[in-house]
Amino acid sequence: MTTIECVECGTKMIASDINHDHNNLGCECGNIQVKFIDSVAPSKLRGLITINYKTSYPNIVEISQFEEFRKKKEESKKTKKLGFGE
Ligand SMILES: [Zn+2]
Repeated sequence: MTTIECVECGTKMIASDINHDHNNLGCECGNIQVKFIDSVAPSKLRGLITINYKTSYPNIVEISQFEEFRKKKEESKKTKKLGFGE
């Protein structure tokens, strides 16, 4: 999944949450505006997501599901290690 984060106020938006019915999102400080534009037939694309910013470029991070899974696994390992020997 792709997250769009405003570096000014820290609001995070998830790109896949933006769709035809949910097509105008903004961060709390108004720096970032994310819009969904419907594709026009015969395009097979669902549509396009456009990102506009006023002062600071957003931090766009792509997180694969595998990466997320790996992180979670790593974190649970850490907690287990911390608990060990106490
Ligand atoms: Zn903001």
